[in-house]
Amino acid sequence: MTKSEALFERAKKVMPGGVNSPVRAFAAVGGAPRFIRSAKGAYITDEDGNIYLDYVGSWGPMILGHGNEAILDAVCRTAANGLSFGAATALEVEMAELIVSLVKPLEMVRMTSSGTEAVMSAIRLARGYTGRGKIVKFSGCYHGHSDCLLVKAGSGALTGGNPDSAGVTEGAAKDTLLAEYNDLDSVARLFEKNKGDIAAVIVEPVGANMGVVPPKEGFLPGLRRLCDTNGALLIFDEVITGFRLALGGAMEYFGVDADLATYGKIIGGGMPVGAYGGRREIMECVAPVGAVYQAGTLSGNPVAMAAGLCALTQLKENPCVYANTAALAGRLADGIRMNTGCTVNQIGSLLCAFFTTGEVTDYEGAKKSDVKKYADYFNHMLRNGIYIAPSQFEAMFLSAAHTQEDIDHTIEAVKAFYPKEETK
Ligand code: PMP
Repeated sequence: MTKSEALFERAKKVMPGGVNSPVRAFAAVGGAPRFIRSAKGAYITDEDGNIYLDYVGSWGPMILGHGNEAILDAVCRTAANGLSFGAATALEVEMAELIVSLVKPLEMVRMTSSGTEAVMSAIRLARGYTGRGKIVKFSGCYHGHSDCLLVKAGSGALTGGNPDSAGVTEGAAKDTLLAEYNDLDSVARLFEKNKGDIAAVIVEPVGANMGVVPPKEGFLPGLRRLCDTNGALLIFDEVITGFRLALGGAMEYFGVDADLATYGKIIGGGMPVGAYGGRREIMECVAPVGAVYQAGTLSGNPVAMAAGLCALTQLKENPCVYANTAALAGRLADGIRMNTGCTVNQIGSLLCAFFTTGEVTDYEGAKKSDVKKYADYFNHMLRNGIYIAPSQFEAMFLSAAHTQEDIDHTIEAVKAFYPKEETK
């Protein structure tokens, strides 16, 4: 028995499924999850000493690679002054100033401790600001695990075959209206049927929790127009795309301004952080200025702020990270496409190979993927020292630490999967 297997046996007795987040489980691909001991650059090492080239990147935060020295230094220096005060700090001000300087449409931000909290709060704010109750979300988009958003959710909810979670009451879900990604008519129909009742449309500007599904040309500007015409707010959930597609996130990349945007992952540099922000007029509805209550004991935690500030500052000083990671992702996407029959979607440093030949532009398309084949592919890659998401419905995340050699090695491993498959 390996150390990971032994830890998994212990873990299952005291933790549901042996994990603290379902996406870490290997339920969809079989076997014990690898228990990770350490990570550096593009590589992670498990408790048995196996080293893997990592394309999960902690699900997004590690755009600069694991164990970034400057971030580790910032964390240690800040921790030496105390871990949490429950009072205002200079680091929080610096963080908010940096975020609003990098993301032009934002005038104010509020820090939270996770992406889930950020999105949950942005939804409450949209409702408080507009005085309306309903929200529109897209099938296959994941916005964290708050009740009203666990409706046709992506990510682990989709992998586990449970996109509408048990425990969510009809009451909590009834104000969530569902539209189809990349289908503006489906949104227009909801506005038509629910005149004056829709507070906000929330969207992942790049769907990255049903595999990777980029927006079609015109989709995001179309949402902007529909929201404007109907007096609803447009919320971009940039928990994945923020500071990943570009410094200014999806809003900069696609040239579409949302009214509110939510963040997580990269802004914490690997520490637990989330944030939401928007125009002053909207953000000033949040307590203590306004009537929308939202709070957090550890929000704006100094150690987390130091890590995030350091990550964002490095990205600001080295914007070439974006072109470089996108080029590597493009090379990998081409390599996978040429050597498999897969549909590969790629945008910036995000990509995903779907085990289907059809175009994947929405939830229904993503679900056509052969998940059994993905499981075989995952295990083949793992045996070859390459760690990808243990689920079809997640992204591959490239980082500044990945090299051309890493990509070429990965393509060789992909090639080795196919001859074997074809002889089956
Ligand atoms: N929104 C999106 C787009 C996400 O990808 C995630 C997490 N993967 C969340 C929200 C929730 O963030 P967290 O897991 O930090 O609560």
